[in-house]
Amino acid sequence: MKKDVIIIGGGPTGSSLAIFLAREGLDVLILEKAKFPREHVGESMLPYCYHLFEDLGVLEKMKQQFSRKPGVTFSNPDGSQASHWCFDKVMDGPASLSFHARRAEFDHMMLDHARSEGVDVREEMHVVDADLESTDGGVQIKALYHDQEVLFSARFVVDASGQDCFLTRKIGNQERFENLNIRLALSAHWNGAALTPSLANGNITVVHCGGEKLGWIWLIPLNDDRLSIGLAINMDYAQAQRKLLMTEHGAREWQKALYLQEIHDAPLVHQILQDATMCWNVVSNGDFSYYAREKFGRNHAILGDAAAFLDPIFSSGIYLGLHSAKTIAPGIVQRLRQDDDSLMRSGYESLNRGYEVVEELIAAFYDPTAIHFPELSGSEDQAFQEMKGAYTVYHMLLAGDFFNQSDKYLSAIRALKDPAMIEKYKHLRGHADPKDELRVCDIHPDLV
Ligand SMILES: Cc1cc2nc3c(=O)[nH]c(=O)nc-3n(C[C@H](O)[C@H](O)[C@H](O)COP(=O)(O)OP(=O)(O)OC[C@H]3O[C@@H](n4cnc5c(N)ncnc54)[C@H](O)[C@@H]3O)c2cc1C
Repeated sequence: MKKDVIIIGGGPTGSSLAIFLAREGLDVLILEKAKFPREHVGESMLPYCYHLFEDLGVLEKMKQQFSRKPGVTFSNPDGSQASHWCFDKVMDGPASLSFHARRAEFDHMMLDHARSEGVDVREEMHVVDADLESTDGGVQIKALYHDQEVLFSARFVVDASGQDCFLTRKIGNQERFENLNIRLALSAHWNGAALTPSLANGNITVVHCGGEKLGWIWLIPLNDDRLSIGLAINMDYAQAQRKLLMTEHGAREWQKALYLQEIHDAPLVHQILQDATMCWNVVSNGDFSYYAREKFGRNHAILGDAAAFLDPIFSSGIYLGLHSAKTIAPGIVQRLRQDDDSLMRSGYESLNRGYEVVEELIAAFYDPTAIHFPELSGSEDQAFQEMKGAYTVYHMLLAGDFFNQSDKYLSAIRALKDPAMIEKYKHLRGHADPKDELRVCDIHPDLV
């Protein structure tokens, strides 16, 4: 039977889009190649996801299942310089308290929720071909189920296949973000880590590694005494290290050796891991800066990581996927019901502006001449009051406010690289009271 919409991929973008479309009365099918639960990297979420979870009807499940995140800590490698960014400084109410989630559990919960909202979900269906030129104007999809070919047809197809970028690759439509380098990410989970006060309170910690590494290490406190630790480093540096490590560790083990070498090279992380044991194989992800030039057509659209992927330094991916699903769903409905693509066009224009904000923020993070987040103390000192506006903007950006005031935010990000601003800031820091930098973010019991 012909479906209204087929969605390729049952990650957070695909399942949330399916829910929004099914609620409009459309007949929606998700084809997912994996059998859930399946592991996935990307465990820390922005507070701006909170109201989307509410809309999707999963907020209570999020509260029951996952750990809470009141803010972000940026640190230098030995922990001697750190800044804490607490979302409750700029957001009122419970949305200021975000979540960290093990993705196997989170993605499974979302996909099951899509089923409960009437979406037809087929797992272990690996989409291998799509014909967008069908004579009836619809699409024909070919999938493999345990090596058996299965055909599906629909009026519209959405590619939410994540970094597999199924349609983007098929159409040959992928570009690089010119501003951003290619990086390699390596990650694993640990038990028995000695958490710093800010990790114990739920903050994600981001350790900034400068120099030739041009990278960072994330520490994400999950439930059940699990600490997720990942590393993202410049691909040139990773390749140079690969040559050195291959001789001793061989082709299968060099990535694990590089992961351990780099995380232990940061004294703060080394200290945290003194008595910890690794409880996950090291996973690698690479090449993360691309976008699809054309994101929609007459009978198809591309969303989430399949449409664009930006370095995950600011934990933006899941929010971008959920927000994109909510923004584009009305456009798909309008396209199918009224043969009009104006909502889809304006939706993608708004998404592109938000992605530009995130891209600038990432470029500033890596720019060796910019003020870096570990240095950007959120001090309460009187001298800093005149910079309050800038601090508010950075807090809002760290919370996920990418789509509302793009122009204002873009100029605030550029100020991080402005020599006059840097001079003024250095002068103010000379007067700051170091005590102010010690405040960690709290989880207020009435918000949980
Ligand atoms: C190193 C790293 C760290 C990250 N950290 C964070 C973080 O802390 N916070 C955050 O918000 N984001 C983070 N992200 C980004 C985040 O993981 C993604 O943005 C998010 O998973 C995107 O969701 P999605 O549904 O678009 O894609 P995915 O979650 O990748 O889902 C795509 C689904 O499509 C399925 N699929 C693929 N191809 C096919 C096919 N041909 N047929 C059928 N099914 C198919 C896959 O099996 C998968 O289940 C990180 C990413 C990386 C690489």
